[in-house]
Amino acid sequence: MWLRLRLALLTRDRRQQIRLAQSGLANLLMLGCVAMLHLLNAYGITDQRYIWPWTLMSVGSMVAVFALIRSGRVMHWQDPSLTFQQMFFAILCAATGYCISGSERGVLIPILAVVLMFGMFGMTQRQVLVVGVYTLAVFGAASLYWMLGPEAGEPAGPEIARLMMVAIVVAGVVVLTGRLHGMRERSRQQRAALSIALERIRELATRDELTGCLNRRAMLERMAEESLRCVRNNTPMCLVLIDLDHFKAVNDEHGHAAGDAVLRGFAELAHGQLRGIDVLSRWGGEEFLLMLGGTGAQQAELCVQRLLTGLAVTRFPGLPAGMRITCSAGLAECRGGESIVSAVERADQALYQAKNEGRNRLVCA
Ligand code: GH3
Ligand code: MG
Ligand code: MG
Repeated sequence: MWLRLRLALLTRDRRQQIRLAQSGLANLLMLGCVAMLHLLNAYGITDQRYIWPWTLMSVGSMVAVFALIRSGRVMHWQDPSLTFQQMFFAILCAATGYCISGSERGVLIPILAVVLMFGMFGMTQRQVLVVGVYTLAVFGAASLYWMLGPEAGEPAGPEIARLMMVAIVVAGVVVLTGRLHGMRERSRQQRAALSIALERIRELATRDELTGCLNRRAMLERMAEESLRCVRNNTPMCLVLIDLDHFKAVNDEHGHAAGDAVLRGFAELAHGQLRGIDVLSRWGGEEFLLMLGGTGAQQAELCVQRLLTGLAVTRFPGLPAGMRITCSAGLAECRGGESIVSAVERADQALYQAKNEGRNRLVCA
């Protein structure tokens, strides 16, 4: 039953729940304020004529705002929490309460402070300024009522002091809102910087810095995922180990930087030729592992042959104009849930054979 009541009041929508809970809390505070004024009324301090109309106005306006939020009609408004509107009514109720609370009207000032603090969290700085001016205006009018209205007669000093208190509360809330917004902005910026850093860390953890290819660890994960998918869909996948030929000689004769440029250039060439779903990883040193998901050996062979041909006619910076780089490749088709380890092992044996048969070629396991 408690659950049903909760559901009826707060709905299932998480954001709506927060708005309604906030408005409900404001309603409870208003009830506390009403109880306080009725207590004063019991001691004959508040004006008997206005206590009930005031109660009706205060509770009515707050309940109406709650009902409006609950109805979902204001969902598309800029602020579906109606913070500004709730503040407007709550301050008006505080000021009118001030007018009917006789000698004890000062108790309404802390209430006003609480109302304003509530608004700090849901309003923009501009709105808080508007609310501040509005507060000064309505409480200024209430003070004028006490100084010039039918109840006038007391010395003006204490009333002016109360109005000053209201001004101090308003100024304090405006300043605090400014600081709160500053803190929020800083924390927003920090969150943004953190998410950029996190993205960078993820990049560093999964990519090889030199070639931009996936690193070995990330590739193992991707292969495990792809292997599951292929078993599920009953499709083949191919793994191809590619090793640059005589690469040690490139380093030895033309320098490590030229060797690096070849590695980068090879990755670039491969990425330019491969499909978006193919994954090339740097398996180690000058060895790359290529995964062709959902692809059979025949199709994969064509793809790798094209890569070999492309590489043989590619020029690399730092190498003599006529010099060509080649690579050898071993291909293994992975079917029927063969383990990744076993498929890589077969590709490695095929690669070994390609090297033995004279390099610059592809061997299928
Ligand atoms: P093979 O045709 O039999 O594969 O001969 P190879 O010279 O390519 O093979 P080997 O394994 O003897 O040499 C691999 C070389 O790759 C040795 C190593 O210095 C070089 N190497 C590995 N990682 C890098 C790198 O990041 N940058 C550069 N420039 N060289 C690298
Ligand atoms: Mg090599
Ligand atoms: Mg090697």
